[in-house]
Amino acid sequence: MYQPLSDQSGPPDVYVRAAPPPPPTQPLQEWRHVAVAVIGGGFTGLSTALHLAEASIDVAVLEAKEIGWGASGRAFGQVVPYLKLGEPAILRHYGTERGTRIIDAVAAGPDLVFELIFRHRIECWPTRSGLIFAAHSAGGRRDLERRTQYWQQRGAPVEMLEGTACADAIGSPLYPAASLDRRGGNINPFAYVRGLAHAAAKAGATLHTQTAVRGLTRREGKWALDAGSAGVTADNVVIATNAYTTDLWPGLRESIIPMRGHGFVSAPLSDNVSRSILPHRQSLTDTRLLYSGARMLPDGRLHASAHGPSFGAEPRADWARVDARIRRLFPQLGTVKWQQAWTGWVAMTTDHFPRLHELAPGLFAGLGYNGRGIAAATMMGRDLATLVRGARDEATVFPVTPVRTLRWHRIAPTLIRGLVQVYRVRDMVDEYRLRRAA
Ligand SMILES: Cc1cc2nc3c(=O)[nH]c(=O)nc-3n(C[C@H](O)[C@H](O)[C@H](O)COP(=O)(O)OP(=O)(O)OC[C@H]3O[C@@H](n4cnc5c(N)ncnc54)[C@H](O)[C@@H]3O)c2cc1C
Repeated sequence: MYQPLSDQSGPPDVYVRAAPPPPPTQPLQEWRHVAVAVIGGGFTGLSTALHLAEASIDVAVLEAKEIGWGASGRAFGQVVPYLKLGEPAILRHYGTERGTRIIDAVAAGPDLVFELIFRHRIECWPTRSGLIFAAHSAGGRRDLERRTQYWQQRGAPVEMLEGTACADAIGSPLYPAASLDRRGGNINPFAYVRGLAHAAAKAGATLHTQTAVRGLTRREGKWALDAGSAGVTADNVVIATNAYTTDLWPGLRESIIPMRGHGFVSAPLSDNVSRSILPHRQSLTDTRLLYSGARMLPDGRLHASAHGPSFGAEPRADWARVDARIRRLFPQLGTVKWQQAWTGWVAMTTDHFPRLHELAPGLFAGLGYNGRGIAAATMMGRDLATLVRGARDEATVFPVTPVRTLRWHRIAPTLIRGLVQVYRVRDMVDEYRLRRAA
């Protein structure tokens, strides 16, 4: 039975107002046959549809709400050349050959995203001046130095910023050091996902919104997707529902843990304050355990991402916590007028790596980006299109693996809430030390 996660706020106004108009979509009103049906209209589903439509394959996207309604329309907007875990962990997990392939492909992930943006002229604030990762502790600094060195040895445009160079790049004296990775960038993710939808439609894909798939069955050698009074039959199906996955396929929902991410946007800042914060318009995150980020939007608003309640019904915005953190970081801000807050669901996996599955003949799924999905989900869509077209696992970036259902899925929120408390205390201690040293 289709039951969406309780989360009605949708993509934030600040993104929606700056996005291209909605692409041509309509609810599915009859039964029809397509070669490929894609369930979910976010980065994964639309990248899959675009890659298939460009290969002249008849593809339809079925989205329960609107294009980009899930995490894709609510992301912080950082286009990252990394997965959640670093290169040594990837090599340990996947072995040298596959691990190296993943590291290289993920490093080129922003190239794929920005190439699609430019090829399809997607107006989504594309800014490719890099990403700043700041060291919030001595251990964090060592990790960043290791990663910077690894990429410098491979000729990538990654550098350490120390002392005043670091303070000037961030517009804050808080951090002693940071790594600047010029391969990454920033976008309006909702505008990007709409742009992908326009590009897929232009290439021949059909987009059906307000079309929730309620059941998936095998009938006479084809897949039948039941969407209430209408539906599609398809030779191949791609499930691209990530954290919003329901029980369409046994065990898939229980293979990931949906956790909330939170976004906050201020009113436009005065020109001189706006110019003093992240003057080259890179976005900032740091090495602390719980997520926190900041970036400036093109109209002078400050966008903060911050940790908040990870589970449960949509919470009230915790303005006080984000306000305190941001004003410690940028003391020049004075009073900040916060205007918008929103949340969305991120799909976590226990090993922090994404999943690509062939669930049954002609039935595929890609999910589990652990909060790094703008580039990775776009890449996953390309992988899924490759598999649908008959290639085997050797042709994809991510390996095709069986679904691993988590036996402790039901109690995951309780366990993770406990872990988050431990992380919160560790981050507070580190931040106290950092401020004393600053
Ligand atoms: C607050 C927040 C901040 C983030 N920041 C970043 C960031 O800065 N950088 C980054 O790389 N990543 C970030 N992410 C992660 C990134 O947004 C996701 O990894 C990515 O959007 C996943 O895309 P997707 O297409 O797989 O899933 P989604 O965009 O979530 O799309 C899934 C879609 O499936 C639909 N659906 C579900 N069930 C059905 C059904 N039965 N029938 C039809 N449709 C269905 C849903 O309505 C939804 O629209 C962030 C996520 C959040 C929530």
